[in-house]
Parts: sequence; C-alpha cells; structure tokens
Amino acid sequence: MSVSSYVTAGSVDDVLAALAGGARPVAGGTDLVVGARSGKSSLPESLVAIHRVAELRGVRVSADGLRLGALASHEAICENEEIQARYSALADACTIVGSHATRAQGTIGGNLMNASPAMETGGPLICLGATVTLRSAAGERTIGLADLFTGPGKTVAEPGELLISVDVPAPAAGTGSAYLRLEYRRQMEIAVVGASALVTVDGGKVTDARIAMTALAPTIRHVPEAEAALIGSDGGPAAIEAAGEAVAAASSPISDVRGSAGYRRAMAAVIAGRAIEQALARARA
Ligand SMILES: Cc1cc2nc3c(=O)[nH]c(=O)nc-3n(C[C@H](O)[C@H](O)[C@H](O)COP(=O)(O)OP(=O)(O)OC[C@H]3O[C@@H](n4cnc5c(N)ncnc54)[C@H](O)[C@@H]3O)c2cc1C
Repeated sequence: MSVSSYVTAGSVDDVLAALAGGARPVAGGTDLVVGARSGKSSLPESLVAIHRVAELRGVRVSADGLRLGALASHEAICENEEIQARYSALADACTIVGSHATRAQGTIGGNLMNASPAMETGGPLICLGATVTLRSAAGERTIGLADLFTGPGKTVAEPGELLISVDVPAPAAGTGSAYLRLEYRRQMEIAVVGASALVTVDGGKVTDARIAMTALAPTIRHVPEAEAALIGSDGGPAAIEAAGEAVAAASSPISDVRGSAGYRRAMAAVIAGRAIEQALARARA
C-alpha cells in the first residue's frame, strides 16, 4: 500500500490534529519505513512526520529524575554521562541498538510504541520505574510503562494518542542497574534473550530489586519471583542463581530462526544472572 497523505508537523497540536484524522506518526522511520521496505508490513495510508516538533525533543536529567522527549535518539541517550552513571541499564540498552545510523535516527518513542517483545529499552525503563505521557485531542494521561504493552506490536494507546515523553524517577542511593542481551553479533542484531536488573544495596543486603525479561514472552515484563529471590538476600551466588532460575521459569519464549524456546529458556537464567551481577557491582561501586 502506498502513502496517500504525508504531512510534516511543526507542533504537537498539528500532530494531534493529523492523528484525529486517522494518520499514524512517523519519527525516525527505522521501524515503520524500514519494515515496509522489507515487506514486513505495509505503510499506513496517512502519515504525519513528527521529527521537527521541538516540544518532543530533549534529554533532561535533574535531581528528581530523567525526562526524555519522545524524539530523544538512542545516541543522545547513551552518550549522556549522567544517564550512563545513574540510569546505566538504559545507557547499556541504547548503546547496542542497531548500528551508529540506527542509533542516530531511531527514537525512544518509536522504540516503545513499536512494542516489540525484543526491544532494547523497555526492560531497563520498566526496572527504572518509568512512566509515559500520552496525549490526544481529548486530553493527556500518564501511565506506568509496564502497563503500556499488551502484546507483540500492541499497546494500550488509542490511535489518536501520541507519546509525548518518558519520565524516570531518580534511583535511590546504593542503586545500580544493567541490561544485557544474548546476541549473535554486536551490531544490526536484535536480542535472542535480554535481561534487565536494578538492585539497591544497603549494609551488605539487597533492599530492593527489579528484574525484567526481553524476548522471552509476548511483551517485555518484570519478574516478581526473581525480585523476591534477591530482596533481603546478601546478593551472593545462591541468590543470583535462584533469581536467574525464576526468570527462566517465568518465561514463555518462542522458537524462531534465532533460537529454540528451550535454548532461550536455558539462556534466560544465564543472561539474567549476568545482568544481576553487573547491577550489583555497580550498586556496590
Ligand atoms: C538495521 C536496524 C537495526 C535495529 N536494531 C535494533 C536493536 O538492536 N534494538 C531495538 O530495540 N531496535 C532495533 N531496531 C528498531 C528501531 O531502530 C528502534 O525500535 C527505533 O527506536 C524506532 O524508532 P523510530 O523513531 O525510528 O520509530 P518509527 O519507525 O518512526 O516508529 C515506530 C512505531 O512507533 C510509532 N511512533 C513513533 N513515535 C511515536 C510517538 N511519539 N507516539 C506514538 N507513536 C509513535 C510509529 O507510528 C510506529 O508505529 C533496528 C532497526 C533497524 C532498521
């Protein structure tokens, strides 16, 4: 299907008006346009380009937390030294998206709204407690990121809703986080299995933990059983192994060209364990 209407918006109001008329937003186009070119999906009949909307740009770190405009690129996020230090799992994720070109062009809004179960940024942001703000001509709402995804390529967003920004609270003192994926090559590959971990340590004990899995279920999601295995523990090998096994047990992976379900489940425990070790090392540093 070819595009019958393409407009470039100059403001959020322009975008919302186009969405109300049935258009789909395109930001960097690295999912939407590249997918259509490769025959994975057809292009929508009506598109509104949002890349010139200034209100949707920006990466701002303050004492209270982090705000990412929907158009923040993976490159802008992973090159930010404050994000590397305080929101490390997110920096880990953005660093390995695609290639240099993909990271420069692809946006956080596009990554989240594409809702792939293998997307890089969803797990880290769920662990970091992110919320997303959606706006339509009818109003605005803010929801937890964990509540955004409903299935592969599906979100709770209505067709007229635009993702405006992503907000992440400042992590507590003694917190470290990490994201790791199993990949067959460094660039131009998606996760075979991915795991995100956030831990807070105090006096040798793990006082808080959030673990999320990637490419292991129809949506990115956190794993309460793995978190329970860590909270209150010393963060030693037994606790890490129990948490990794809990991730494997909670997974419901598919078999495809990248790996069988059984291989993915076995690797889930390994990758989750490594992500937890890395998060603990950062928390203790
Ligand atoms: C070669 C290549 C390698 C890749 N590697 C990876 C990888 O390693 N990891 C990974 O996670 N992804 C990867 N991707 C996928 C893609 O680059 C990312 O998901 C990127 O962040 C998408 O952002 P975009 O701005 O290009 O989205 P677009 O293609 O513009 O949009 C994607 C979807 O989101 C919707 N959308 C965009 N912005 C908004 C908004 N503000 N509000 C509401 N809906 C919106 C669009 O309508 C569309 O449905 C790769 C892509 C390519 C081409």
